[in-house]
Amino acid sequence: MATRLRSAGTRCTVIGGSGFLGQHLVEQLLAKGYTVNVFDVHRGCQSDRVSFFLGDLCDKEALLPALQGVSVAFHCASPAPSSDNRELFYRVNVGGTKAVIEACREAGVQKLVLTSSASVVFEGTDIKNGSEDLPYAQKPIDYYTETKILQEKEVLAANDPENNFLTAAIRPHGIFGPRDPQLVPTLIQAARSGKMKFIIGDGKNLVDFTYVDNVVHGHILAAEKLQKGSPLCGQAFHITNDEPVPFWAFMSRLLTGLGYNAPKYHIPYGLAYCLALLLALLLWLLRPLVTIRATFTPMRVALAGTFHYYSCERAKRALGYSPVVGLEEAVARTLQSYPHLRRARA
Ligand code: NAD
Repeated sequence: MATRLRSAGTRCTVIGGSGFLGQHLVEQLLAKGYTVNVFDVHRGCQSDRVSFFLGDLCDKEALLPALQGVSVAFHCASPAPSSDNRELFYRVNVGGTKAVIEACREAGVQKLVLTSSASVVFEGTDIKNGSEDLPYAQKPIDYYTETKILQEKEVLAANDPENNFLTAAIRPHGIFGPRDPQLVPTLIQAARSGKMKFIIGDGKNLVDFTYVDNVVHGHILAAEKLQKGSPLCGQAFHITNDEPVPFWAFMSRLLTGLGYNAPKYHIPYGLAYCLALLLALLLWLLRPLVTIRATFTPMRVALAGTFHYYSCERAKRALGYSPVVGLEEAVARTLQSYPHLRRARA
């Protein structure tokens, strides 16, 4: 295709390439014939076919060697959303992203693709088939989301075709797949400790869960389609499986697929939310004496009990995106990849 980058020999850098999404992205880029640099604050299980650069992305000088001779940079590094360290989120997602932009410009990188998040428009209330035109959340649900908004704004505003620097942001939602250290392991841990008995709300709220290969596909398409004069420069794109599912049906499918019982008792959404608020208040009052981090928080109740699914029509139209792995197949591949989490037969 005329608009395609010729991948063979094209050098790119994956910032955050030791992480869950980053590693899958690196593998696909290698399979497509790209030459790949990885920049990360820790060394993951890297293929010996990549050049690895160890460093903190907040340090422009550390980034520069990883960006020399590179046409495309993918920025998919972030502190884990579960942290509540405001300073860390601001330092890495905001300050660090500014450093990434400066380093890319200085090194002559032509394209920067950011991994943002669909949660940048989520305020804890229902979103049904939301498009990219929804305004950024006025009251983001946590520091992670607050700084993902600022990070995305920085990257999109840096789009500068005059100076041959093009940017785009991919907004995935609920990434899952093999080697994810979060979703399935956390769910199974909760099931093993007897915490997966309740469904919050009526269980009908639809949510997007997106298989990692589809998220990777969206990133590579964006990099390949970003061209001077194209209307997709400086834009954000939702990337989903395009198959929203009831949140609790998806959780139940993962649980039963690994031999655990699905939750069956319902707790009204409002009640769950109030209990989580009360717990947060109690922990705040106890803070001078003891610090306890709750897993049952108002934010998690909102994530589990509201509709939040997004339209990926813009990505379909502008990038030619469509999911490469359907949800059923994606779940089967994911379950197969966690034999160690399967419940031992009595
Ligand atoms: P991950 O934690 O597995 O990977 C993040 C990587 O970033 C890690 O390897 C980490 O070492 C690296 N990193 C963090 N701080 C760094 C720093 N200061 N300097 C250099 N490297 C640093 O996370 P993931 O699930 O693969 O997420 C990748 C991206 O996708 C993130 O930007 C995240 O916000 C976004 N995202 C994830 C999801 C999801 O469901 N996992 C959903 C939407 C968006």
